[in-house]
Amino acid sequence: MNENRQNPSVIIIGAGMTGIGLAIKLKQAGIHDITVLEKAETVGGTWRENRYPGVACDVPSHAYTYSFEFNPDWSNFFAHGNEIYEYFKNVYLKYGVDKHTHLNESVISCVYQNGKWIVKTSKDKCYEVDFLFSATGILHQPVYPDIPGLDNFAGLAMHSARWKDGLDTKGKRIGVIGTGSSATQLIPELINSEGTDVTVFQRTAQWLVEAPNKGYDAKDKKRFREKPSRMALIRNISLGIFAQGTSALVGDGLLDRMVHRLYAWNAKRYLKNAIKDPLLRAKLTPDYKFGCKRVVMNATFYPAIQKPNAHLVTESIDHIEKEGVVTKDGKLHKLDILVLATGFDPAAFMRPMEFRGRNGLSIDDAWKNKITAYRSLLIPEFPNFFLMLGPNSPIGNYSVIAMSEMQADYCISLIKLWQENKLKEIEVKPQALEQWRAMLKSKMRHTVWTSGCNSWYLDADGDPLTWPDKWKNWVAMMKVVNTSDLVS
Ligand code: NAP
Repeated sequence: MNENRQNPSVIIIGAGMTGIGLAIKLKQAGIHDITVLEKAETVGGTWRENRYPGVACDVPSHAYTYSFEFNPDWSNFFAHGNEIYEYFKNVYLKYGVDKHTHLNESVISCVYQNGKWIVKTSKDKCYEVDFLFSATGILHQPVYPDIPGLDNFAGLAMHSARWKDGLDTKGKRIGVIGTGSSATQLIPELINSEGTDVTVFQRTAQWLVEAPNKGYDAKDKKRFREKPSRMALIRNISLGIFAQGTSALVGDGLLDRMVHRLYAWNAKRYLKNAIKDPLLRAKLTPDYKFGCKRVVMNATFYPAIQKPNAHLVTESIDHIEKEGVVTKDGKLHKLDILVLATGFDPAAFMRPMEFRGRNGLSIDDAWKNKITAYRSLLIPEFPNFFLMLGPNSPIGNYSVIAMSEMQADYCISLIKLWQENKLKEIEVKPQALEQWRAMLKSKMRHTVWTSGCNSWYLDADGDPLTWPDKWKNWVAMMKVVNTSDLVS
C-alpha cells in the first residue's frame, strides 16, 4: 500500500483538452506527482489530429474554453480548429503541464498489481503509480468504411482526421464519403477551392441547424479583455441554450416536447429556405426525427452543395476501383482524391493497449456484456482508475470541456477521500454499477436517440452511449460523491 497518501503519484494517458485540464486541476488540488503520457509529437488531441480545411468547433468559442482560462482573442463566435489547437498548447505551457508531459510515448499496457498501476510504454519504460486516468478522448480512432476495393483506388484516399498538410486541391476531382459534422465543414471548403469538382456520397441525410459564424473584431476583443464578465455571459448563455436543447432530446415533459418541435420546425424551415431545387431538397431531407443523430451546426453546407461544381450522390456505393467510386447504378465517379469523412469509433476506450485490473481481469472480459462505467468513470475490479469521458458521459451537442472539468472535480473529491484514509482503494461496488445501468436503461426509452436512426450515439445493443437524461441532473449528480456506492 501507499505509505504517503499526501503525495499520490498519477499517470494521465493523453494530452488533449481533457488531459491538460485534468493535470491543471490536479496541480491546483495539491497533487504534483503527475506524469502525462502522450503518444504524439505534440499535444492537443482531436484538434491536433483534425486538420481538414474548414475544421472548426460548433460549440461557441467562449463556452469551449476552460473555466479558469478565458480567451478574449477568439476570432469568431465559433472558433477555427487551428486557433483552438493554439489555445490548448498555450494553456499547456502557461500552467506548466509541459514539465509533466512525455511526448512520443504511447502506453502499451496498464496492469493493476498490489495497489499500484504498472504502466509500460513504447519507450520501454515502466511506471508504478497510485492513480491512473485515461484521457484519450471519445472520438480518436477513425472508422474506415468497409467498401470493397478501397485499396485499389489509384488516387489519394484519406480519412478526414488524417488530412495531408499542404495538400493542393486545385483543379482536382474530389469525392467525399459522409455528411456528418466533419464532412459538412469540409465539403464547402473543397467546393469553394479553385477549379475543383466535388462529389458528395450521402448515405443518410442530416438535420442541420443554421449556425452563422460572427467574427470578433479588435473592438470586441478589447471589450472582452476589459470586462471578462462579457465572456462569462456569452459562455453561460451558450451553455444554457445547449442544456435546454439537449433536455428536449431526452425529456418527455410538455416543455421538452415543445422545444423539440421548435428545433425540428426550425431545421425544416432552414432546409426549405436554403435549398431552392425541390429534388435536391428531397435528397437532403432526413427520414428520422430531429436530434436522433448528432445535430449538425453549420451555415456553409447548404449554400455550397448548390454550386455547379458540387454533386450530391444518394445512390449507394457498390465498390471502389482504380479510377474512382462505382455506385449501385453502375456509374463510375472518376476521382483524384477520396476523403473518408466516415467518423470514429466512439467506444475505443483504452484501445489498443493491454488493460488489466485486479487479478489480471482484462477490460475486454470486464466489458464482454456491456461497455459501461459507473458515472462514466469507475469500473469494478479496476481500482484507482478513472475513465475520463467514459460511456454515458453527456457527449453530443455540449461543451466537452465543461463536462471534463466536472469529471475532474469529481475524481479529485474521490482522491481526497482516499488521502483522508476514508477509502482503502477507489473502487465502485458491482451492485452500484448495476443500479447505474438500470437507471440509464429506464431513462433511455424517453430519448430521441432511440427513435429509429443509425447513429454513433448508440452502442452495439442500440442503447445510447451518451447521458440519457437532462444536463442539470448530470451536474447535480457529479457534485455529490455517494460513498455507499464505493468499496469501503
Ligand atoms: P459521423 O458523424 O459519424 O459521420 C460519418 C458520416 O460518414 C455519416 O454521414 C455516415 O453515414 C457516413 N458513412 C460512414 N460509413 C459509411 C459508408 N460505409 N458508406 C457511406 N457513408 C458512410 O462522423 P464525423 O462527421 O467525423 O463526426 C463525428 C463526431 O465528431 C460528431 O458527431 C461530433 O460529435 C464530432 N465533431 C464535432 C465537430 C465540432 O464542430 N464540434 C466537428 C466535427 C466532428 P450514416 O449517417 O449513414 O452513418
